[in-house]
Amino acid sequence: MLKQQRFIQSKVYFPAIIGLPVIIWAVGLLFYSGPLILSSGENPVQRVLGEVTASLVVTLLGFNLLMTTRSRRVERILGGLDKMYFIHRRSALLALALLVLHAAVSPRYPEINPGKPLGVLAMLLIFLGIALSAAPFFKRLIPYHKWLTMHRLMGPFFVLGICHSFLVPTLTGKIPLVRSYILGIALLGIGSWLYRALLHRWLHPHNSYKVTDVKRLGNAVLALEMAPTGAPLPSLPGQFAFFTFPGIDPGESHPFTIASAPEQDRLRVAIKNLGDFTRSLQKHIQVGSTVKVEGPYGVFTQSRSSAKRQIWLAGGIGITPFLAMANDFSNSELNVTLYWTVCKKEDAFFDNELRVLAERKPGLTYKLWLSDKNGPLRTEAMPEVMGSDNVAVFICGPEAFRRSLTAQLRAAGIPRRSIHSEEFTFR
Ligand SMILES: Cc1cc2nc3c(=O)[nH]c(=O)nc-3n(C[C@H](O)[C@H](O)[C@H](O)COP(=O)(O)OP(=O)(O)OC[C@H]3O[C@@H](n4cnc5c(N)ncnc54)[C@H](O)[C@@H]3O)c2cc1C
Repeated sequence: MLKQQRFIQSKVYFPAIIGLPVIIWAVGLLFYSGPLILSSGENPVQRVLGEVTASLVVTLLGFNLLMTTRSRRVERILGGLDKMYFIHRRSALLALALLVLHAAVSPRYPEINPGKPLGVLAMLLIFLGIALSAAPFFKRLIPYHKWLTMHRLMGPFFVLGICHSFLVPTLTGKIPLVRSYILGIALLGIGSWLYRALLHRWLHPHNSYKVTDVKRLGNAVLALEMAPTGAPLPSLPGQFAFFTFPGIDPGESHPFTIASAPEQDRLRVAIKNLGDFTRSLQKHIQVGSTVKVEGPYGVFTQSRSSAKRQIWLAGGIGITPFLAMANDFSNSELNVTLYWTVCKKEDAFFDNELRVLAERKPGLTYKLWLSDKNGPLRTEAMPEVMGSDNVAVFICGPEAFRRSLTAQLRAAGIPRRSIHSEEFTFR
């Protein structure tokens, strides 16, 4: 019996992350007997509301910085790095709205204080940083590596905000429980940022590999095989890792899914040319090149579901996790149908391998779907979907593919909890 893994989803994360500071404030105020205002004429409701919203912003951004450390424990709790970054984005937008509310309701303190201009500066920078990072227009306009460099400035902006909160007179400073809480979250956020900025590349564990085989599959896909030069990376089929190729660009690490099964002695990845880095890799990678592999990450694995009937849907390069799963397939209790959709027959580079695997492995059925001949894959073409109440569906492919099939599966009566997908993008 497969053991199903459970995660904290956004519908649990957000009430918890908002509830935490609210409860801390409620308990703190319960035991606080001093005045709720800091200067005469202030409105106590505005004072409390202004400071609670500030605590919420600090909490959301502090936990967001924790997420950037790529802690495997945190990503597993949140359902994988892709789901974690989804929560990260939503948290940032919520923090932005709360920051505006904080500025709008907080009573103005009459005395001159260096924390005041610092607060205005921090607010403007955090506002700009989140808007530039999250707005789809800028995401399209700015290349990923430049976007990432800019996004990393959120750490220093957070530090400015924290300095502001400790310099200006606050009610927070007068309530020991709230003060300790904010200090704790500030240390968590600043520590996470410093770790990510300075220590991650040295301290985060990685495995070293050498490229043993390079296959250029058409103009668009590169298949690499690598042998470990030390301990091999322990991974589950469907997981991915961050790969750095020091001979090509020591500063860039990119996520690719491990397309080999754990018991295979060579680690394989299949990489599609989608931008500057992947194009340069296609040109310059050679047998003997060294590779740093950091991971494994992700929960797009069999632990997602205990269903014995499964449908695996792959779009284009989204076949990579299923290559690992199909190679690993040995569960006689499972009945799986893999649909791989490609634009044209020439793009189906792993067709032979998958046919052979399906012939050899009872319980695994493989179907190639050519969209130039048959149009986009639709659920009506998948008899396994119809009338099946205990089926799990795994989807990996371009966003439009994932969205369209998820909507069709939902319309066909497959519950959302039975549909598992992997995003090939983090921002
Ligand atoms: C979990 C996961 C698994 C993936 N598995 C595969 C795979 O098996 N095969 C494959 O061909 N592609 C895979 N990708 C996509 C691959 O990481 C990107 O195509 C690649 O990093 C593009 O880099 P680029 O500089 O050539 O292109 P760019 O034009 O710079 O980027 C194209 C897009 O790729 C994403 N991207 C770029 N750099 C990074 C980075 N360092 N970290 C995160 N995302 C980045 C961004 O969304 C960006 O918009 C995967 C992505 C993720 C998130």
